[in-house]
Amino acid sequence: MHISVGDIFRLNVQQHTKLGAQVRRTMAAGELVGDDLVEGVVKARLAEHDWNFGFIIDGFPRNERQAEFFLESYDIDGVIHLDMPDSEVRRRVLARRLCSGCGMDYNLLASSPQEAGKCDVCGGELIPREDDTEEALAVRLRDYHQKTNPVLDIFRRKEYVVTVDARPDRELVQQAIRAKLGLPPRDLPRPAPAADSKADGQPGGKADGQPSGQAGGQAASQPGRGQPSGQPASQPGGGQPGE
Ligand code: AMP
Repeated sequence: MHISVGDIFRLNVQQHTKLGAQVRRTMAAGELVGDDLVEGVVKARLAEHDWNFGFIIDGFPRNERQAEFFLESYDIDGVIHLDMPDSEVRRRVLARRLCSGCGMDYNLLASSPQEAGKCDVCGGELIPREDDTEEALAVRLRDYHQKTNPVLDIFRRKEYVVTVDARPDRELVQQAIRAKLGLPPRDLPRPAPAADSKADGQPGGKADGQPSGQAGGQAASQPGRGQPSGQPASQPGGGQPGE
């Protein structure tokens, strides 16, 4: 289960909720939303308990207070630090596009739509994120270096952190994450088809059904360790502000 705090905020902005109105301008400027609002969103989302096999929380925690809250409230299996130089973050972020209809994300560098400017899934118009501008990105990078990256030390002390070079293609990045976490490779070889089988039933298209293209932003968690609740892993701030 992938949980993105930024996605929850964006959905609220799109749907004109009260929360959306509270965070819209802050987000557009690339600033961090206040900790109380963020913690409220995380608590409410994790209280849904649709993640019994574990979850990945993306874009959280982004500062020390959020990290302390997370450590106190949940069991964390690991933290994935996706390491990327600012120059590459900038290149990828400025090439990112979101579907204005269904919110699917694309990247003109790595996962372009089949038809320029149009969502493969719903045909909606692809637009840049409001905060994917040079100005907002400068603010996000500043906050990342000042507030988010230092949080890694809190998790390092607990030996939770794996650091992965996020510059290669996403498939390679995923392989590296799995290897470092001791997980099996995702694409296990399929058994050879029976001699008379006509088709393999595999549609073409994107390998993982995830059109999102950017390596900067997830963390993984394993299913429980005998606890009835709470076994997340987290990545502070999604590794980079690009996600
Ligand atoms: P993201 O999708 O992770 O890039 O987040 C988009 C925006 O949502 C950020 O630039 C912040 O304005 C807000 N946001 C998301 N997660 C957090 C967080 N953990 N703390 C504060 N603000 C956040």
